[in-house]
Amino acid sequence: MKILVCGGAGYIGSHCVRQLIAAGHEPVILDNLAYGHRASLPAGVRFHDVGLADAAALDRLFATERVDLVMHFAAFCYVGESVQSPLKYYLNNVSATYTLLDSMMRHGVKKFVFSSTCATFGIPATLPLVEGMPQAPINPYGQTKLDVENALKALAHGQGLSCAVFRYFNAAGAAEDGSIGEDHEPETHLIPLAIGAAQGLRPELQVFGTDYPTPDGTCLRDYVHVDDLSRAHIAVFDKLAQPGAAYFYNLGTGRPTSVLEVIKAVEKITGLKVPVKYSPRREGDPPALYANSAKAQAELGWQPKFMTIEPIVETAWRWHKQKPKGYGDR
Ligand code: UDP
Repeated sequence: MKILVCGGAGYIGSHCVRQLIAAGHEPVILDNLAYGHRASLPAGVRFHDVGLADAAALDRLFATERVDLVMHFAAFCYVGESVQSPLKYYLNNVSATYTLLDSMMRHGVKKFVFSSTCATFGIPATLPLVEGMPQAPINPYGQTKLDVENALKALAHGQGLSCAVFRYFNAAGAAEDGSIGEDHEPETHLIPLAIGAAQGLRPELQVFGTDYPTPDGTCLRDYVHVDDLSRAHIAVFDKLAQPGAAYFYNLGTGRPTSVLEVIKAVEKITGLKVPVKYSPRREGDPPALYANSAKAQAELGWQPKFMTIEPIVETAWRWHKQKPKGYGDR
């Protein structure tokens, strides 16, 4: 299939582009490079430097490229920033996504795969998180993703859009050959920050909160490899043949890992010490989030290849060791 990958030069998008090519599909990339990296894209892949809010440019693109399906990774994803600048998030994550969907519908493109997040659940009453549990985001980032989820349900019902929504837990790791990986500016994610601190590129890693009601007092998260996430996006294609279908999947390994366990894994894999500063809790962090992905496993035959933190960190380390400054284009 010919697939438009919005945000294809970003962290998860760029890994998905490689998986699409490996699976015999033809990805076409849309990215305005605000956060993405041109260097993350394979040579020869078609690239459009277009913003999602530019309806005229989207119309031209859909008129010329004739794509079968759209994957949408192009969102702002900083929880803290979404609290400080909610409109930035509503304009990009919600409004621009509606512009994209509108252009798609007008050009008869009716298959859509959307990146959502476990942040749509807020602070869950019980764990692990199952798809049907109540969604009550505690920050604008999570709310913007939930707004789009709800719009997609309406579009599937009313206009025959076929869509799959994947709620990621903590995307982590890098391509197994170390050729592409995580490079955010600013970086806020635990694994790259811990590796950067171990490499001496950062003075220390702050551990946000040691008094959580968890076994070691630090937050529990479900770290899932970025290539495993990508594989689910491709495994869902067959289901999208049915018009008007809307599928929702939680994607994680189901294994909770604490912040201290991540640090231990980074120290073991790198052979370096992570200088740590124990700090107060970060606002908006739920104590524990981990997935029940039985639905994706049963319906898509999806099974994460990376089930534990160490092999995930190993791939991240391969990337950061080779490219301590990332793509070097900022
Ligand atoms: N975390 C931390 N120090 C950091 C960054 C993150 O202790 O410098 C913790 C954070 O509180 C959370 C976990 O690491 O419990 C994962 O955070 P991250 O920002 O990577 O992902 P999130 O769970 O917020 O999507």
